[in-house]
Amino acid sequence: MDKIYNFCAGPAMLPEAVMKQAQAEFCNWQGLGVSVMEVSHRGKEYIAMAAEAEQDLRDLLNIPDNYKVLFCQGGGRGQFAAAPLNLLGNKKSISFITTGQWSKGAVAEGEKHAQAQVFDALSTNADGQISVKPSNQWQLDKDAAYVHYCPNETIEGIAIDEIPDVGDMVLVGDFSSTILSQPIDVSKFGLIYAGAQKNIGPSGLAIAIVRDDLLDNAHPLTPNIFNYSLLAGSDSMFNTPPTYSWYLAGLVFKWLKQQGGLSAMAEKNTAKAELLYSYIDSSDFYQNNVASENRSKMNVPFQLANSELDSAFLAESAAAGLVTLKGHRIVGGMRASIYNAMPIEGVQALVDFMADFAQRNR
Ligand code: PMP
Repeated sequence: MDKIYNFCAGPAMLPEAVMKQAQAEFCNWQGLGVSVMEVSHRGKEYIAMAAEAEQDLRDLLNIPDNYKVLFCQGGGRGQFAAAPLNLLGNKKSISFITTGQWSKGAVAEGEKHAQAQVFDALSTNADGQISVKPSNQWQLDKDAAYVHYCPNETIEGIAIDEIPDVGDMVLVGDFSSTILSQPIDVSKFGLIYAGAQKNIGPSGLAIAIVRDDLLDNAHPLTPNIFNYSLLAGSDSMFNTPPTYSWYLAGLVFKWLKQQGGLSAMAEKNTAKAELLYSYIDSSDFYQNNVASENRSKMNVPFQLANSELDSAFLAESAAAGLVTLKGHRIVGGMRASIYNAMPIEGVQALVDFMADFAQRNR
């Protein structure tokens, strides 16, 4: 086995070039003779690095000036709580669009703070194909503080690539498993947030991009470390940030710029996803039941027609260097997560293995 391709949904593989750079400067960062992990976040070297990382992210996503970029703690689920605490203001309700486990997770946290008006946007056709109802059919609570949705359901592999039309309501998106995979028109959102451990860097960090007119509305009981205004006012250094994750995220942003930015990443990600889905569709041995317009380019769940072969598939794929293909326990089957760091060679190796496995097990 000469090469391992890691299809984990998160924490996910990071670009090899980034890992090598981190390794090279692990014990001696910027010639200081110590690791970036061992320096003060108040020191000038760290502050300069942190600011550069933010600027690189702004460049990549073309973030307008009236948005703050916050480097937060507590991962994606931290933001499930931070969003309502910061954005509810004097409103009573939040409109939640559910399309899978993660958007439902946001409801479970949000309903501690507000009335949750939930609209299940999934529909299943007679052939068992799952799709998302178009946003002009979503039932929204016009008095809600905001509309929350998840543009990429990591577990079910269901994506909403078009930005939903919610009129003049504030739109909030959980981009944990799709951020940086393609350009986003940030100006359409009140808040975008993402846990880091798929396309940004190591876990523990979450990024929030918040429109500045939505600041200063936090509930008085909001823990300070989740208060967007306090974080914005302290350049996300109200307390000690997850310094190593921030540094590594900065390396990933530089790598993305070297790759040609997010339009170039979108092209690569589309090519990878097409390779895998077109093989699945061409085979009666494997299946994916998400309608083509809602198929995730990041997380590709698939089932073997004969689930008794699942454990053999997992053991043999792992032995061939294709690791962590087991689907989430809620849905079973397999899942290949093919984020930015997964090269097309990894997807090709998976397709070759799948074809060989099918051939041998007919
Ligand atoms: N939202 C989505 C879409 C996710 O995929 C995940 C994690 N897989 C989360 C939220 C929760 O993130 P965390 O584990 O960082 O809290």
